[in-house]
Amino acid sequence: MSSQSTISASIQWAYQELMKTSDSAQLDAEVCLQHCLNKNRTYLYTWPDKALNQEQWQQFSLMISKRKTGMPVAHIIGEREFWSLPFLVNDTTLIPRPDTEILVETALNLTLPEEARVLDLGTGTGAIALALASERPKWQITAIDKIEDAVKLAQLNRQNLSLPHVEILQSDWFSAVAEQQFDLIVSNPPYIDEDDHHLGEGDVRFEPQSALTAAEHGFADLYFIAEHAKNHLNSNGYLLMEHGYQQGIELREKLEELGYNNVGTVRDFGSNERCTLGKI
Ligand code: GLN
Repeated sequence: MSSQSTISASIQWAYQELMKTSDSAQLDAEVCLQHCLNKNRTYLYTWPDKALNQEQWQQFSLMISKRKTGMPVAHIIGEREFWSLPFLVNDTTLIPRPDTEILVETALNLTLPEEARVLDLGTGTGAIALALASERPKWQITAIDKIEDAVKLAQLNRQNLSLPHVEILQSDWFSAVAEQQFDLIVSNPPYIDEDDHHLGEGDVRFEPQSALTAAEHGFADLYFIAEHAKNHLNSNGYLLMEHGYQQGIELREKLEELGYNNVGTVRDFGSNERCTLGKI
């Protein structure tokens, strides 16, 4: 391969390179090439015979060699789309997942005051808070994260998405909002069991443990939030949390035990239980 390589030949080459290590080799190749050329997918299919210049080819082949080591495409290109918005991504936080869009959709369907006060706990890239802000400009949204670099990243995403009114703070769960009440508290906390074998596979190997795993078989943070959110919710306020596909039953029980009403779970695109909510 050389700088004279065409779009279609480059994709074909990258596919061959990646097919053993990635189960999304074609898509990975296309997304990387789109990024190098700064073009959309349609362009790749409209101009298959167009040649890459030297710089584009070098950038592309470097990306493919990174992907070959297992590095997530989102880290290679530094970006991931969530709720049709572009988010900057790095290895200080979780890469936003399509399943988390279910949480956003569920939140948007709740009956809430027009200027609802909303808290997003463990915001990471800011994906949930900023997606909600893009849909509900009047909501007063605060997003917190414990990790300083995550806070900086979320603030950068806030700036890029022109959503300056979203408040983004460094906080260990509720510590920076101790006296505050909200109409909705959302979170995608760490919920994977520390011993889960999935942690050794795929993209999660490149994501911080602090964003993925929790003690008590993954329940520690979900339970902590459930217990403390009660003190920070206005009456008729909701708590809505993402969780693992096998954690729904226990989480519903916990919320009921704590006195939440209307407790229910929403399924994700793969029909797995994914988000549970309760009302105070
Ligand atoms: N859903 C993610 C995964 O299974 C984990 C997200 C999280 O821990 N909050 O990879």
